[in-house]
Amino acid sequence: MIGLLVVVIAAAPLAHRLARPIRDLAHRMQVLPVGPGIAPIGNLHAPLEIREPARAYDQLIQRLTRTFGQLKRTLVEHEHIIEERTSALKVSNAKLHKQSITDELTGVLNYRGLNEALENAWRSTREQEVPLLVLCADIDLFKPFNDRYGHPAGDSCLKRVASAMRSSLLNQNDVLGRVGGEEFVVLIKGLSIEQGKQVAERIRFAVANLKVPHADSPSGHVTISLGIAVVAPNSACNPANLLVTADEALYRAKRSGRNCISQ
Ligand code: GH3
Ligand code: MG
Ligand code: MG
Repeated sequence: MIGLLVVVIAAAPLAHRLARPIRDLAHRMQVLPVGPGIAPIGNLHAPLEIREPARAYDQLIQRLTRTFGQLKRTLVEHEHIIEERTSALKVSNAKLHKQSITDELTGVLNYRGLNEALENAWRSTREQEVPLLVLCADIDLFKPFNDRYGHPAGDSCLKRVASAMRSSLLNQNDVLGRVGGEEFVVLIKGLSIEQGKQVAERIRFAVANLKVPHADSPSGHVTISLGIAVVAPNSACNPANLLVTADEALYRAKRSGRNCISQ
């Protein structure tokens, strides 16, 4: 492709240079009167002796002009092909990136996606000077659920829990990820701890309300426990500390009897 470009760029001045003496000659010949020994060739009035070379030059220039035109068209076609392939590549790259950050089972973000989202949320909440809320959620007594109902039933339960959690989040920009087997993380920008508790309660209720039967659970159905942490925009904390704080809160909720929220 670069070779073609070089040929086209080189061909233009070459054709121009080759044509220059002919153009000068033609200009002079236009003023020659037709008469004995002077005959018209196209719009030129040429002495008979130079008819043949003039015709040959004329044909050469025409061929060069045609070739130059073809080269230009080929270049434009190739540019189109390159543009199409570049945009197809961008689409498939975006698709690949989406796949690499998505949890195949539930369709929410995976661990890698959640970490990317956390970094972005961290940066933007610092810039906008708003707090960042993190919720860590974990399905209660999920091991006995799998043991009793089997792994496929466990997987189907995970999908339903993820979907109930997603539906409880009001804003498209709120982030939900599955970061371990039956652990989920929610990130919400600009919420206070009190507002965070309301969201956590909405999520807890939505999962309990699925009423997925769980004979080994005190409530008789699948529930989750949640830990909350909020970081102020000017705090010295870092994203990893924030997750650890929310995780510690989650285990306080577990110790308090599960199916509840702790901060
Ligand atoms: P706790 O209330 O304290 O959280 O108890 P738990 O039984 O939920 O906790 P534990 O960590 O002992 O068990 C987690 C279980 O989650 C273990 C495994 O059977 C199940 N699990 C983890 N990942 C998956 C998964 O991808 N699919 C299914 N079906 N089960 C999973
Ligand atoms: Mg767990
Ligand atoms: Mg669990």
